[in-house]
Amino acid sequence: MSSSYTVVNPATEEDVTEVEMSDLAMTDALIAKAADAYPAWRDVAPGERARLLRRFAAVVDEHIEELAELEVRNSGHTWGNATWEAGNVRDVLHYYSAAPERLTGHQIPVAGGINMTFHEPLGVVGIIVPWNFPMPIAGWGFAPALAAGNTVVLKPAELTPLTAIRLGELGLEAGLPEGVLTVIPGKGSIVGERFVTHPAVRKVCFTGSTDVGKKIMAGCAEQVKRVTLELGGKSANIVFADADIAKAAAAAPGAVFDNAGQDCCARSRILVERSAYDEFVSLLEPAVKGVRVLDPADRSSEMGPLISATQRSTVQGYVEGTEVAFSGSAPNGPGFWFAPTVVLADDPQQPVWREEIFGPVVAVMPFDDEAQAVQLANDTEFGLSGSIYTRDVGRALRVSRAVEAGNLSVNSHASVRYWTPFGGFKQSGLGRELGPDAPHSFTDVKNIFISHD
Ligand code: NAP
Ligand code: MG
Repeated sequence: MSSSYTVVNPATEEDVTEVEMSDLAMTDALIAKAADAYPAWRDVAPGERARLLRRFAAVVDEHIEELAELEVRNSGHTWGNATWEAGNVRDVLHYYSAAPERLTGHQIPVAGGINMTFHEPLGVVGIIVPWNFPMPIAGWGFAPALAAGNTVVLKPAELTPLTAIRLGELGLEAGLPEGVLTVIPGKGSIVGERFVTHPAVRKVCFTGSTDVGKKIMAGCAEQVKRVTLELGGKSANIVFADADIAKAAAAAPGAVFDNAGQDCCARSRILVERSAYDEFVSLLEPAVKGVRVLDPADRSSEMGPLISATQRSTVQGYVEGTEVAFSGSAPNGPGFWFAPTVVLADDPQQPVWREEIFGPVVAVMPFDDEAQAVQLANDTEFGLSGSIYTRDVGRALRVSRAVEAGNLSVNSHASVRYWTPFGGFKQSGLGRELGPDAPHSFTDVKNIFISHD
């Protein structure tokens, strides 16, 4: 039995629309359709596949405003973020449209003949997307997967299906054949799990919580199914006393409160060298109070609401019993609002310091020297991203190499650029997305030897 889900605007708590959710039978039918579409898509000439992806990018570009408006209403993302996110899908499609014509193998010298390698597509790829960045995370999966010659089934999060559904329609409008990119709204426990168990799905790309990621990895083991995991984070922002403290303090709110902290790369732990601690905290206060937390439909809003009432109560739970230094503002009335909050931490065992909060809460702690900063930064099961603020080039390099995380930035909090690889160390993930090599992770290498005789 299929059912429907009511999408709610998190800024107003008003109903937006109803979405039909796929049940198991519908999911199986759509996976079968993607499997049927695969041989023809695999055999589309590289230049033609490239042209179709460029056309898809162009159609997305023509619909940036519409997609952004949908995301503002469905996810409470600010207008600025939502337009960036739609533009990111366009750019990632453009970037990987160059891949079909460059997916070259090797010719390897061997005795008695000729040896060649090929990057063969896998078949149907299943992409499971969380609610925090519905558009970019979808695109980081489907663009390189399609470029490499796979067909894609994509499950958006139940809470945020609208932009994914629209992107699926735009793909068809751009000329992708039926079944090449299929968006299947539904529950994780039904549609998502079916991607893991269905034998026609040959790879699962999962972004979401570490707990669900572990289950998916275990499930994929049954069929030795390829899997990429992008999981949680508890990233550190390390500020040394020799840094431009004003710049570091001004940047810190953006590094954690962007998307209301619902960002796996959020720098939700700030480590400050003790001699600069008071100055940093005093400069952080006006920066946090200055964050414009407004209805995301207001184009000057810098931070919107949390995604749901449940998420808000989870975030609230982390703040209770802690020492709140100061907080910013948030609207009253309807909407799942939570003001940006700064907590002073003194014990690395405190949940606010250890656990991923996924909300606008940051914990600040002093440190005494470089070795202790690295030790505290690495005292976590996660390893996704992080920042280092210092003017000392040697220290920047030493600390960047010592922090166990996949994506570090020095004097910056940029995490994700589509030109460069993205992913986690430790329990933050497995495999990498984006960057020049992403299409390879949607292929298996085939080696062919041809005898001279
Ligand atoms: P989640 O519960 O793990 O869900 C993520 C996706 O998986 C959703 O589409 C969900 O479906 C689906 N799902 C749930 N249970 C499943 C199962 N048993 N089998 C297959 N699919 C299943 O995470 P979330 O609550 O949406 O997102 C927050 C978490 O994601 C945070 O921990 C955050 O750090 C992490 N995250 C990581 C990254 C990264 O790049 N590393 C990016 C974004 C988010 P439904 O919810 O629709 O049922
Ligand atoms: Mg969940």
